Amino acid sequence: MRRILLCFLMTMLAAPLASAKKLNVVTSTTDMAALAQEVGGDKITVESIARGYQDPHFVEAKPSFLLKLRNADLLISVGLQLEIGWLPPLVTQSGNPRIQPGATGYLDASQFAQILDIPTGPVSRAMGDVHPLGNPHYWLDPDNGRRIAKGIADKLAQMDPANQAFFEQRYQDFEKRVGEAEKRWEAQMAPFHGRKIVTYHNSWPNFVRHFGLNVVGYVEPRPGIPPSPGHTVQLIQMMKRENVKVLIMEPYFDSKTPNSIGAATGAKVLVLTPSVGGEKDITDYFKVFDYDIGLLTQAFHATQ
Ligand SMILES: [Zn+2]
Repeated sequence: MRRILLCFLMTMLAAPLASAKKLNVVTSTTDMAALAQEVGGDKITVESIARGYQDPHFVEAKPSFLLKLRNADLLISVGLQLEIGWLPPLVTQSGNPRIQPGATGYLDASQFAQILDIPTGPVSRAMGDVHPLGNPHYWLDPDNGRRIAKGIADKLAQMDPANQAFFEQRYQDFEKRVGEAEKRWEAQMAPFHGRKIVTYHNSWPNFVRHFGLNVVGYVEPRPGIPPSPGHTVQLIQMMKRENVKVLIMEPYFDSKTPNSIGAATGAKVLVLTPSVGGEKDITDYFKVFDYDIGLLTQAFHATQ
């Protein structure tokens, strides 16, 4: 009898708690977490599986990831096969029916974004590690940041209708702040429109399109394939011919080849972060652009 009473009391106590429970959001990458945080505010908890300084193509699975996924109400992924090597098995193993592909709690953010580099012909292994559904590094364009944030806000509202107005308001506020920041970023970049750069991996097509730069080559001979001596020699010749003075790479690539290319061509090698958390102080979506545009414009000034 006491046991029954206790159960009854616990049910009574749990009911109001359950309705005030925050949505537990887990994301594959820090950028999706940052955008979810912008619109979700204190009505959600959010955590990323990958760290911002890690290569999002290759993340080593840890048991703690399964625990996160098991308790998630909503999983947000970048999609376009960026996480194909590590996320799908984790989602399956989590045994959490709420976040399986096709379930309400599974959100592929690429559906909201403008996607570049969609292959027009068949994709084969000979082309390297090409992303066959288009370029998944799409969050590095503030327009896509807006679109993704809106998509996440709508999803949160669908899952937690009581807070719909809150999420919408947070989105409007984010949209406004992006608009203001964008004016500043575009003004900083305007003098360098059309500047030629080389990048390590093809991670920056949305970024360069938005800010008017021109990528003329890659350190990787083909996407996902490490540098080769033959390709590096050709790249150096091309960079000299085209007067390319800036080479950008992500923090998780080996800097040996970029540095030797820099030494041979006089180009500055910049380690830019493609993600929130790529450096300790880069704690939100805005700071990614602040940081990268700061370093880029400095390098362009120095290499007029
Ligand atoms: Zn990639």
